[in-house]
Amino acid sequence: MKTLVMKFGGTSVGSIDAIKNVIQIVRQARRDGVEQIAVVVSAMSGVTDKLKTGVLGAEAGATDTIQQVGQTLREKHETVLRTLGGDDIELALAEINSMIDDYVRFCDSVSVLGEATPRALDYTMGLGERISARQIAAVLRAADVPAQAVDATHMIVTDDRFQNAAPLMDQTRRRVREIIPPIFKAGEVAVITGFVGATEQGINTTLGRGASDYTAAIVAACLEECDELWIWTDVDGVMSADPRVAPEASTIDVLSYREVSELAYYGAKVLHPKTISPVLEAGISIRVKNTFNPEHPGTLIVPNGDARTGQLFKAVTAVRDVGLVTVEGKGMLGVPGIAARTFGAVARTGTNVLLISQASSEQSICFMVPMGSVQTVVDTLTAEFDREIDRRDIDRIAALAPLTIITVVGAGILYMRGIAAKIFAAVADAGVNVIAIAQGSSECGISFAVSAEEGDAAVRAIHALTK
Ligand code: ASP
Ligand code: MG
Repeated sequence: MKTLVMKFGGTSVGSIDAIKNVIQIVRQARRDGVEQIAVVVSAMSGVTDKLKTGVLGAEAGATDTIQQVGQTLREKHETVLRTLGGDDIELALAEINSMIDDYVRFCDSVSVLGEATPRALDYTMGLGERISARQIAAVLRAADVPAQAVDATHMIVTDDRFQNAAPLMDQTRRRVREIIPPIFKAGEVAVITGFVGATEQGINTTLGRGASDYTAAIVAACLEECDELWIWTDVDGVMSADPRVAPEASTIDVLSYREVSELAYYGAKVLHPKTISPVLEAGISIRVKNTFNPEHPGTLIVPNGDARTGQLFKAVTAVRDVGLVTVEGKGMLGVPGIAARTFGAVARTGTNVLLISQASSEQSICFMVPMGSVQTVVDTLTAEFDREIDRRDIDRIAALAPLTIITVVGAGILYMRGIAAKIFAAVADAGVNVIAIAQGSSECGISFAVSAEEGDAAVRAIHALTK
């Protein structure tokens, strides 16, 4: 292997012991002959939340919170650098502390204004990554691994949807190919900030919470060559179920892009859902590995996994705290446009729809949304269909919550007969009632809703089928 992009998440860079593992992992890759290594880092775990608390505190006028956050950050990073840093730590510390000073000053002005806009949040919330990249580069150098920090604000060009910005791939590709190869040529490891980007005008943005995986995928896809993308996290790869619910859950060896997309979308918190799309075109395989157990092979994610493994399915996940909204009425039969108006109205509330189902009787449409959005959606639809409700064309707009969405994922579901029967028989045997069913978003999964209390029983019953 010649070129490798490795991403280390918040817990992987979250303590001195974890960072020691990171250093070992990077050294090992060099020893194994990988010539070009780009490392993408998250903020130390908890830091992004702290930064956000500081800004929101500032908005509410809590100036002592700002000072506290500043102080905590200074101490946290100083401890790491004094323990693991080398000759240049004073320089690194000075730079980091001045960035924290800037944050504190910025928060002070937010407290004067009394308003933290999404743009202000993005200016500040990426600070954890910007510090982390400098810190990791410094400790790598101290361990005799030449390394250079790179601020992705100069490299990942995005639109201006603050808090959830999308990369402009052409510009980003150009910049990645300008900035990273010279670092490789100098024999250095490039240590890049996850999560952050900037608009063409240079205004800081973030790609959404947990999006450092996405950054790593963007970098891997934009490099002229990249053999693999390794996501280092705190578990042994992607699991067949949440081990807290199904204790016999195990690591999945191989998954396809489609399978993992389905999993990421439906609640397995291993990869950010947007991670797949940039590497999809480039055909780069992903490996999910455990920083705290590097010997474990982890999960390999490949462009086209072999569906014919004989397994019924690969994994079962649960999305909790969702509600089912139903638009129901005898007058809907054969009337075009009800679905369009329903989802148009839901979209205007900015709500994410997780599952949709309509039986062919056309007398009701139901769909699932996060719990927090249920009431807004019901109110908005009641207003939208005001006239239809008066005319009794629509009888009711109702909500059922809290529910859990269970998703069973595996490409085998596409072609093997009888899987659905087995799944629903197992669920029935466990005494669980199925409320709504839909095929998963990428055709390699089946999703259905059950009551919140029965969610765990459903996961266990289905997972038991893998034995
Ligand atoms: N630090 C950011 C967050 O917590 C990004 C990441 O860790 O992926 O959302
Ligand atoms: Mg993460």
